[in-house]
Amino acid sequence: MKFCVINLGCKVNKVESDSLTSTLLSHGYTQSELPDAELVIVNTCTVTGEAEKKTRKVTRQALARAPQAHVVVTGCAAAINADEFTQMDKRISVIDKLQLFELLNKPNNTFLFGEGFRTRVGVKVQDGCNNACTYCIVHVARGKAKSIPAQQILDECISLAQMGVKEIVLTGINLGSYRDVTFCDGESLSLAQLLQLLLEQTKDIHLEDEPPVRFRVSSIEPKDIDDDFIELLATSQGRICRHLHLPLQSGSSKVLKEMARPYDAAYFSQLVSRLYQAVPSLSLSTDIIVGFPGETEEDFQETCAMASACQFSKIHVFPYSKREGTPAAKRLDQVDAHIKTHRAATLRNLAEKLRCEDYRKRVGGSEWVLAEERCVGTTESYHEVLLPDTIACGSLVYLPLNEVRCLDEQDA
Ligand code: SF4
Repeated sequence: MKFCVINLGCKVNKVESDSLTSTLLSHGYTQSELPDAELVIVNTCTVTGEAEKKTRKVTRQALARAPQAHVVVTGCAAAINADEFTQMDKRISVIDKLQLFELLNKPNNTFLFGEGFRTRVGVKVQDGCNNACTYCIVHVARGKAKSIPAQQILDECISLAQMGVKEIVLTGINLGSYRDVTFCDGESLSLAQLLQLLLEQTKDIHLEDEPPVRFRVSSIEPKDIDDDFIELLATSQGRICRHLHLPLQSGSSKVLKEMARPYDAAYFSQLVSRLYQAVPSLSLSTDIIVGFPGETEEDFQETCAMASACQFSKIHVFPYSKREGTPAAKRLDQVDAHIKTHRAATLRNLAEKLRCEDYRKRVGGSEWVLAEERCVGTTESYHEVLLPDTIACGSLVYLPLNEVRCLDEQDA
């Protein structure tokens, strides 16, 4: 049977979609383009109103472009509003993602990113979230936090390293809440302890002239970064990439409180100072929501000031969108659409300036760069760069950054 998996949304979704693909391939299914597909799986996202709109659009396109196909809709948007999809067409089934894996008979958290090169692999170590940010529907869609047993993760990462994978990205909805209470008697294993074990158990699995596999932490909540984690990051010599995605959401303590984020602006900026002090070459990316209900111009200016002070290398800017069923959606003080658009544009301009500054600061130094496809690589600091075509795909090479250029900028 020919199949096509369409992914929308976050890195966890990406890992799961890739895992669905590898499961289907392992059962003898053939991957195809939409028009030939007999089975289409749409892995949906509901993180913003825009994401949900795109999910519906993509599902309709799948129905139209694959007229013979059965379309399975799974993931967060389907969990929140199954009827919306089942009513679209009788060829659609909505299936919970866990049930889908069970149906397909083989849960497998691993897949190779890119185009089949064994270079950069996502491993899901955690799912769900116990927080309740007032704008977020993901914690409802995904349920309470749960962690994959450490032994299972160790086994998977060891076998990936043995296959020649050079970078493993640990993913989760709330990765920093990782706890394995079953690993050793009576004591729970934290994310830092899991990383320590991963470093130790993979350090000797590499060819003589190659470095061992490195690990990247996909996203971590500010409150989950503790001294153990910072120390490990500082001492791992890049085996844990010195890049963190640390969601700020707002630089205003008033707005953070209304979002039910468990920190204020002072906490965040002190954490960033501690991180830079311990790891001077650290690259920090973030998520910021603009136009949260009640956000004033002054609040927004505090966010811009915080973004500059934190020297983020990348900012994902999200204009606030209402998610039905969340406390923030019920507020009467919604911000006008044109103000949100204006603030988003202002912040994106600032983000671009900060990104260029971060890269310029690095030129003159060297970094391990993962060659992910022909002529394109990813630095430890998470900048995409153009590589000489003499570098083989899949290699991890130590390069002076003045010899490579940022992929999407002409003058860095
Ligand atoms: S930390 Fe907040 S935004 Fe992130 S998944 Fe949990 S509730 Fe949602």
